[in-house]
Amino acid sequence: MAIDDKPVGVAVLGLGNVGSEVVRMIEHSAEDLAARIGAPLKLRGIGVRRVAPDRGVPVELLTDDIDALVSREDVDIVVELMGPVEPSRKAILSALEQGKSVVTANKALLAQSAGELAQAAENSRADLYFEAAVAGAIPVIRPLTQSLAGDTVLRVAGIVNGTTNYILSAMNDTGTDYASALADASALGYAEADPTADVEGYDAAAKAAILASIAFHTRVTADDVYREGITKVTAEDFESAKALGCTIKLLAICERIATDEGQQRVSARVYPALVPLDHPLAAVNGAFNAVVVEAEAAGRLMFYGQGAGGAPTASAVMGDLVMAARNRVQGGRGPRDSKYAKLPISPIGFIPTRYYVSLYVADRPGVLSSVAAEFAKREVSIAEVRQEGVVNDGGERVGARIAVLTHRATDAALSDTIAALEDLDVVASVASVLRMEGSEE
Ligand code: NAP
Repeated sequence: MAIDDKPVGVAVLGLGNVGSEVVRMIEHSAEDLAARIGAPLKLRGIGVRRVAPDRGVPVELLTDDIDALVSREDVDIVVELMGPVEPSRKAILSALEQGKSVVTANKALLAQSAGELAQAAENSRADLYFEAAVAGAIPVIRPLTQSLAGDTVLRVAGIVNGTTNYILSAMNDTGTDYASALADASALGYAEADPTADVEGYDAAAKAAILASIAFHTRVTADDVYREGITKVTAEDFESAKALGCTIKLLAICERIATDEGQQRVSARVYPALVPLDHPLAAVNGAFNAVVVEAEAAGRLMFYGQGAGGAPTASAVMGDLVMAARNRVQGGRGPRDSKYAKLPISPIGFIPTRYYVSLYVADRPGVLSSVAAEFAKREVSIAEVRQEGVVNDGGERVGARIAVLTHRATDAALSDTIAALEDLDVVASVASVLRMEGSEE
């Protein structure tokens, strides 16, 4: 293929973990990239806050005037890698309105404003790509938008946050508690100084919104995603998980649900769940990510790899950049935003899953049947139950613990059951309630 003389102008906004690696790859692989695209990429400038000569790139490329860089006539593609919702949103909208293509890794922005950005891209017929926004290096956006475009996606479930997976893996492997595992993750650089977005599930919820939107051709925002984080998961929960042949993972689940009336709905949710050890997601440990997609004709597909880090994330950004640049050179554009299905979002109360419930109870006859009766009244069917004595430091028996594993029940039925159990005289406390995902019953 002949290579055009006219370069494709690129502005990179952000020179942090990901941006610096993208800049390095643009420079380092220039010849190969030109051959793959059909024209050379030309880095026109890099947007940062701190313009200084010690940043590892020629200082004349740096600018803190993002608006001016985006508006340069010789910039064809804007690669946004700054992070905060603002000024990223403004910069991306400005680029798209001027007909420039955009590549971004900004999941928080996409989970909030994807509709607005997609409309701007549509108006100017520009490309908007965001493979790196979900699961770092792992190709999952493109398989969903392109490879599976002719199939019907039923479910997308994944481990999409490396920090929480690192913490939960450590708790599983060492028996340590949540606070110690978080402290270790912070010391090793796997958790940020403020870990809230990760441990409370906000990051995973943003990714779930993006995945659900694409998988089900329906606009889903972060506010539509039911979310629970991992801060309440205890070492005792892991002991229970092991006894059941499971581990605990923070899952992002996007599902097509059919109501009793046959209406299709979308469920998007993030919570820690028991996962059977023979399920593929149980083997995803440390900071790795994985996404399992189930589609009507394709069956089950699994995507696994590095979900974060400068170089892995830059790989996904570079893939998008090459696609956008090829479209510039050859004409045409990538797949348009597809939200035709407009499926309603299902409230969490309607979602059926299996549950594990652990209770501290009085140690006297009839307690087990009182507890079982509360489940039965709400048609929550019990699959397994275990009872064991609880002894104090002196070895004296002071109560009992009942652990119940249910068959599938709706969240609403289970919540009612828990409320009723808490009101029973014989129940001292409900120690934990965990969903179980990935088991067949
Ligand atoms: P980072 O290391 O914090 O770097 C952010 C860069 O953006 C810095 O160079 C910073 O400039 C620049 N910046 C921030 N606010 C700015 C502003 N108002 N004006 C101009 N420049 C500004 O972030 P990162 O880890 O590379 O992440 C970048 C994006 O990729 C984020 O959207 C993130 O969610 C996404 N992402 C990251 C990863 C990962 O593993 N790191 C994985 C997937 C997705 P200064 O250097 O001058 O401060």
